[in-house]
Amino acid sequence: MTTPFTAKAIGASSPTSPLAPLSIQRRAPGPTDVQIEILFCGVCHSDLHQVRDEWKSVMPTVYPCVPGHEVVGRVVRVGANVTKFKAGDMAAVGCMVDSCRTCPECMEGNEQYCHTMPTFTYNFPDKHLNGVTYGGYSSAIVVDEAFTLRVPKQIDPARAAPLLCAGITTYSPLRHWKVGKGHKVGIVGLGGLGHMGVKFARAMGAHVVLFTTSPGKREDALRLGAHEVVLSKDPAAMMAHAGSFDFILDTVSAVHDLNAYLELVKRDGSMVLVGAPAEPVPLGVFSLLFKRRRLAGSAIGGIRETQEMLDFCAEHGIASDIELIGANKLNEAYTRLLNGDVKYRFVIDMATI
Ligand code: NAP
Ligand code: ZN
Ligand code: ZN
Repeated sequence: MTTPFTAKAIGASSPTSPLAPLSIQRRAPGPTDVQIEILFCGVCHSDLHQVRDEWKSVMPTVYPCVPGHEVVGRVVRVGANVTKFKAGDMAAVGCMVDSCRTCPECMEGNEQYCHTMPTFTYNFPDKHLNGVTYGGYSSAIVVDEAFTLRVPKQIDPARAAPLLCAGITTYSPLRHWKVGKGHKVGIVGLGGLGHMGVKFARAMGAHVVLFTTSPGKREDALRLGAHEVVLSKDPAAMMAHAGSFDFILDTVSAVHDLNAYLELVKRDGSMVLVGAPAEPVPLGVFSLLFKRRRLAGSAIGGIRETQEMLDFCAEHGIASDIELIGANKLNEAYTRLLNGDVKYRFVIDMATI
């Protein structure tokens, strides 16, 4: 069967319109495709940036925009050549649904750095149906099995969904910079990404310090695995850690003062940005020159590493702390996300769509 089918979805028709129900087309599964009935989809701050066209200069939004790249669901149909999945299996999809598969990055499993760009799960040219790809705020998705992940049985499916973006985006840099025992690691911001960063850094054996602007998150940060919590608005508390960090992971979604954190990194230590504020962030170069510090960025993670991260979560009893919401609460959730009021990831129960 080659005819596309209709799926329910939630999307935005302009940068200022609220999210609302709509119908979209999904391709019929080809020989290597998996068709998934979506059960849960996490709400990433990137969804909000993209829906509101805040990344216009880099990735302009095409409307209607159906976001969602933290997808978990049940396989309902597979193509003739699919070997990894069968109907009834739990499966997951993250931020990418394809890539060129031939460039050196793809060959090494770094599909997120594909030379011609990976096909992102939403708002990216769709090779199959023309138009753009539509994300996981939907009842169904069809994805090549090479970009579909296995969800370990030990992880609750709703709590697994945010691992597909918030999880891999924090796991990947912590692994790349070889964070582990004996390291002092800072995580900046306790939101979706930040709370996963705290859990992973702790599980990897580091001494974990959480930086927050929200005094009310202190107890949660300690419960989630931080050894110390620093209120970043308190300059004395910040300076008490000057020049002491091996590694700082910055997950903040808005423009903020990077220099205040760079000052806390030790000689030859690194600070890595994963937060993606819409506007440029000011940088005083002396924070880098003194102590030969490094400033870097990191984007999600490859498919192989995403599976490794899911298996690591199963082994260490890690999952996201979530607030499960009905589709009718999505616009409210976006407002709360903007206010830093999330504990610590909204996940849409897709049965309510
Ligand atoms: P989130 O859940 O909204 O968390 C962001 C946290 O940043 C907030 O909870 C808050 O923590 C802190 N924060 C917000 N505004 C702030 C401000 N003005 N000053 C200082 N701190 C502030 O967002 P998320 O889903 O974790 O995403 C975080 C960022 O990462 C977004 O920009 C997103 O687009 C980006 N992202 C990047 C990648 C990648 O591949 N690099 C992947 C996914 C997401 P406190 O209350 O603790 O201060
Ligand atoms: Zn995301
Ligand atoms: Zn490639």
